[in-house]
Amino acid sequence: MRGYIIIPKSVPCHNCKYCGSRPVIALSGKDGYVVKCSMNSNHYRTPVGLIDIDDWNAHNTPTNEFEPENDQMVACYDSKLNYTFFLPA
Ligand SMILES: [Zn+2]
Repeated sequence: MRGYIIIPKSVPCHNCKYCGSRPVIALSGKDGYVVKCSMNSNHYRTPVGLIDIDDWNAHNTPTNEFEPENDQMVACYDSKLNYTFFLPA
């Protein structure tokens, strides 16, 4: 058990701007989640709290990468690793 959740491919999120890795969702502390680089914990990670892929995306804007035109769906996981998708307001 590595202690993180792979973000489904159906969820549009930018790769790490430093190394190009797809981010993962990790449990941090008791109830908080972070979205962070899967390769290097020193790369950007979102503040501890709710899963915030929008924040990850805002800090990992691709410079020369094709921007997928998927719906801006966000995945949210509960403590049993069930996940739901929703459209952020
Ligand atoms: Zn990285």
